[in-house]
Formats: sequence, structure tokens, C-alpha cells
Amino acid sequence: MYLIMSEDLFKNIISHSKEYGFIFPSSDIYDGLSAVYDYGQNGVLLKNNLKEYWWKSMVQMHENIVGIDTAIFMHPKIWKASGHVDAFNDPLIDNKDSKKRYRADVLIEDYMAKLDEKIEKEVEKSRKRFGDSFDEKLFRETNPRILENKDNRNVVEVRFKKALEASNLDEIKKIIEDCEIVCPVSGSKNWTDVRQFNLMFSTQMGSVAEGADTIYLRPETAQGIFVNFLNVLNTSRQRIPFGIAQIGKAFRNEIVARQFIFRMREFEQMEMQYFVRPGTEMVAYEYWKNTRISWHKKLGLGEDKYRFHDHLKTAHYANAAVDIEFDFPFGIKELEGIHSRTDFDLKQHQELSGKKLQYFDPELNENYIPYVVETSLGLDRLFLAVLSAAYTEEKLENDTRIVLKIPPVLAPIKIAILPLVKKDGLPEKAREIFNQLKLDYHIVYDEKDAVGRRYRRQDAIGTPFCITIDYDTFTDHMVTIRERDSMAQERIAITELSTYFSDKLSWKTILN
Ligand code: ATP
Repeated sequence: MYLIMSEDLFKNIISHSKEYGFIFPSSDIYDGLSAVYDYGQNGVLLKNNLKEYWWKSMVQMHENIVGIDTAIFMHPKIWKASGHVDAFNDPLIDNKDSKKRYRADVLIEDYMAKLDEKIEKEVEKSRKRFGDSFDEKLFRETNPRILENKDNRNVVEVRFKKALEASNLDEIKKIIEDCEIVCPVSGSKNWTDVRQFNLMFSTQMGSVAEGADTIYLRPETAQGIFVNFLNVLNTSRQRIPFGIAQIGKAFRNEIVARQFIFRMREFEQMEMQYFVRPGTEMVAYEYWKNTRISWHKKLGLGEDKYRFHDHLKTAHYANAAVDIEFDFPFGIKELEGIHSRTDFDLKQHQELSGKKLQYFDPELNENYIPYVVETSLGLDRLFLAVLSAAYTEEKLENDTRIVLKIPPVLAPIKIAILPLVKKDGLPEKAREIFNQLKLDYHIVYDEKDAVGRRYRRQDAIGTPFCITIDYDTFTDHMVTIRERDSMAQERIAITELSTYFSDKLSWKTILN
């Protein structure tokens, strides 16, 4: 049960993450580094579990997908070939009064989202007023205020799409002016021109600066996969269609870095490139669209929290692209991208490297450059989605509690072992059980404070089960298990514990 508004909710999630060892600002004792974060003792466990969920479902459960792990530093020509040197830009705009910098495209997208919101509010208002007799379809088609907002939105959308396609920065500025978009900080419309800003970080390789090549911190993990296409093809038994997956760091010098770990300058991606016969890419695209959204939904965070969003303008390399969006506390935003990348990348690498990046298709008896469908998920965004959906402030009869309702198999700590008191041999008995279970699960032992307080501590980090050892344990050889979400308690024989947990903490609960 949520007791609070989303803005406060988001602030509470951020402070909870720090207080309970999930996420710390980077370089905290030096007051942090903008849009860079560290994962704490509980955060790293949750993050590792999310990686495992992805890896198992993509690599382990697909016979035709293999995983690799490529270096962050790569030959600088790779970024020329991929188009990142010339085209990996965001349009930025400054407000002259507040001196704040914005992404011009995001200002326009937010404006369109506000018009959508207005339309939905109008519909909701009338639904309440007219009750059962409300004809929504007719209302949407005839209400003058809705029609005006819809027209307005469509005009902006068409202009915006055209401007993006033509990279017409003057027109983007003109749209901002015509829509009378104001700076959220100063409230003024005093904007600079729109400029392009390249998002790649660069550095020098070699000990002597002069003459050393400029190299880039990779802005996506995908290129490490493309340049290893031949290596994998030649050293595995894979034949098309097949995929290569990898999890790794990526770096982007984001213009506006805010919203906690949603937009970071150093982050992690989980990407998979699926190589197919040209002409079959749309079949693969649909397959991956469906597979990826159902993977997300199996997490149980709420099916209504997801939606697809088709790209207005596809990137320079793509012929179709869609985002899976998630309902974060600050709005519905991109979580994962699915892109049909054509043969753009392999073709470019073939040209710049001079190496043939082709596949011999025995069925067709011909060589071709495969087409590629990519799934690209931000691990940190997934983490934030899980954390924000799991975070619950609950009112109990005489108390309140904060509980993270993380799917049990993903929880950082699976079981807490709690002797009722710190004496009379209870700690020793508890240690015995701890040692029995620690081989299979990440567990903790806690004997400090009253048992109720210890339960609260575990609720706050999302531990799904607490085991309490009491005096009866010596005679009946049983313990009490308390379940996190229902707070229900049951007595279980010590000899039954392994079986009891193996079902409830199995990957099968979310993978199938
Ligand atoms: P956005 O429009 O939000 O900047 P994008 O369309 O540039 O994202 P992609 O290039 O498609 O993102 O990257 C794939 C995925 O990587 C995204 O869906 C997102 O989950 C993640 N991602 C991208 N940029 C960041 C970032 N700065 N911080 C955290 N995750 C990111």
C-alpha cells in the first residue's frame, strides 16, 4: 500500500537505498561526482542476481545464444565505423536566465506528454461525472478541448519528427519557441540556439601524449560483439540465426544527468545481438519484442507498469526500433530498447577493417552480411525499476514498516537466522543451521535487539525469510519461519528446511 505521493516516494527510495547499503553516491566523502554511483553491500547482491536472471534466460536457455565479455577500450576506428564519432550527439539548449542546460528533444517530448496527460485528465473527469452512461469513444472524438489538444500535439509531433530526421537544429529551437516551453527553473523563454553535443568520453592510450591515439570509453557494449562476430562464428558451432550476448560497462557524457541511477555517466548494459538472414529480421524483431516484455513481466512488478513505445525517429543504423517503457516514480520512461539494426554495423566494419564479415548460408548456397536484431537493457534502470516497485511503506495495526517486496529469488539476502535470545545455547543452535544453509544461499546471522526489530531490519532490505530458533527447538527440532510479505509464521522441522527453501528460492519461480 503506497501512502505517499510519487515525488516524495522517489526521495524516500533514494535515501532508503543509501541507508540500507544499496546505492551510495560515488566519491561520497568528496561530496559525490555528478551522475556516478556506487553499489553497496546489498546493492551488489541484487545487481548480480539481476544479471544472473538475464544471463540465464538469454544464454543458458537459448541453445543458439552464446555470451562473451569484451574490453572497454577498443580500436578508435570502431567508433568511426559505427557512426558514433560523427553522429552520437544529443541536441542541447541552455536557458540564459537560469544557466541550466537541457536536452532540446526531451523538452519537446515532455511538452507532448503534458498534452497527452491533459487529454487523459479530461476523460477521467467526465467518466466520474457521467458514470455508467459515459461513452468514452464518442467523448474522445467530439469534445472540443480534447480535439484541440490532440491537433496541437499532432502538429508538434510531425514537425518534431521532420526536424529530427533532417537534424534541423534551428527548427527544433523554433518548435520550443512556438510551443512557448519555459525553463522549469527560471520560468523564462530566454533560450540559446540548439547545439549538438557528442556523448563519448575520450582519453589517450600510450605513455606519451603526443602522437598517441585518442581512444574512447565505449558508449555501448554492442560494438564489442560486432567486432567479434567472426571469432565466435569460427570457434563455435553456431549457425544463423544465432545471438551473442554480453554484460558490461558503458560510458556516456550525458548532458542532463539526473533522476538518480536512471541516467548515469557510467552504467552497465546487458545487450544481445541476434544475427539473422536478411529479409527475416522483422520476424526476429517481433519474437524479441514479445520475449523481452514477457521476461520483464515475470518479475511480478505489475503487468500494467510496462508499455511499448515506437521510436519517432530511428537511429542512423536501424530500420525499426521500439522501447519497453516502465512506470518509474518520476514518469513512464525507457527501460530497454529493441532495435532492428540491419547490416549497418557489420558492413561498416567490413569496409573500415578490410576484413570480410560474411556468413556462408548452406541452405541458400550464398554469402551475405547478416542482419541484426538487438535487445539492449540498462542494468541500472532495471535495478531502479525493481527497487521502486518493491519499495512499500505499510501501515500495520500498531506500527508502520518499510518493506522491499523484491521477488524472493532476486533478494540480496535470502534468509536471516535469528536466535530468540543470546544465551542458553540458542546462538550455537542457530549457527548450526546457518552453516547448513550458507552453502546454498546468501544468508545472515543476527542476534542483536528484540526479534521484532530484527524482522524490520530484514524487511527493509527485502529478505524473504527469517528463521527463529527458540527453546522449543531443542525438544521438537523445529524452527519458526516468518515470511516477509504476509508476515505469516509457520513451524518447520530443521530436516525439512532445504526442501522448503529450494522451491521458494528457485530460479524456476521466474524463469520458464
Ligand atoms: P535515452 O533515450 O534514455 O538516453 P537511449 O535511447 O540513448 O536512452 P540506448 O542507446 O538504446 O538508450 O541504450 C540502451 C539501454 O541502455 C537503454 O534502454 C537504457 O536502459 C540504458 N541506458 C542508456 N543510457 C543510459 C544512462 N545514461 N544511464 C543508465 N542507463 C542507460
